[in-house]
Amino acid sequence: MGAMAEGAMRFLVEDHEVNGQLVALGGCLRPLLGHGRPGPLQRQLLEQAVAAVMLGASLKDHSELMLQLQGGKSAPLSYSVLNVREDLSFYGSAALREGATLGSDEGFATLCGADGLLAVTIFPRDTAQRPWQGITPTGQPDFAACLEGHFQQSAQLMTRVLLFCDPALPVAGGIMLQALPGAGDGAAESLGHLSTLAATLTTAELAALPPTEILSRLYAHERVRIFPLQGASFRCGCSRDRCLGTLRMLPRQDLAALRARGKAEINCEHCGRRYVIGAAELDKLLSEKSQ
Ligand SMILES: [Zn+2]
Repeated sequence: MGAMAEGAMRFLVEDHEVNGQLVALGGCLRPLLGHGRPGPLQRQLLEQAVAAVMLGASLKDHSELMLQLQGGKSAPLSYSVLNVREDLSFYGSAALREGATLGSDEGFATLCGADGLLAVTIFPRDTAQRPWQGITPTGQPDFAACLEGHFQQSAQLMTRVLLFCDPALPVAGGIMLQALPGAGDGAAESLGHLSTLAATLTTAELAALPPTEILSRLYAHERVRIFPLQGASFRCGCSRDRCLGTLRMLPRQDLAALRARGKAEINCEHCGRRYVIGAAELDKLLSEKSQ
């Protein structure tokens, strides 16, 4: 079996006037699992990566999109953030509140509580323009329903979202079905029919079959127009230069304390990469400070 084709594939179910997006992600999800994250947090980050790629693939003229989930007042989740760039490369991180405990099988509703928030922020390519932000409450049984709420609010189009995820493989994917603007009275029925078929997809099929094959199996009796796959990948924004930039902003006494220990170690919260800044570089930063 070859490597899984990871990315987003737009499709159009012509007789139903429904626009769709299929997302399939595999090995590129690995950096999101690391750092000993509990199961519910891993599943949330994976589903959020699928959602971010799904949203990013259906936009134009943006540079980056941020999908941010904030837990409710007494919920275990502190935050879960996923950023996706225009080329569908993404990075993300998540954390529980300090001292929070969470059973390994808990789902979205427990993780976020009924009073959490989903914020979608779109940064335009033209940096002179202000970012757009849409906020949706999390009071839903699952993340897919929460996303449907977002689409309903922002696009005013009837939308169904199905998400699939297995951190053990890892594989995650999703199908978005959206009535075309001006779709007739049958739109709700069409979405119901097509989402029932979509719900039969399994994570094993997502991992094993090319996206075109998945669509032609799910919708064997429909006329489906398929667009080229837009590849997606994990790409962190961290670098040695960024670490030095962070250190440069520290007060002089903190830098001196690090120098006294001989080195500074910085772990990237997104990809887990470890940067070690040695004595010579710390000396250089200190001498910059005293000028
Ligand atoms: Zn990183």
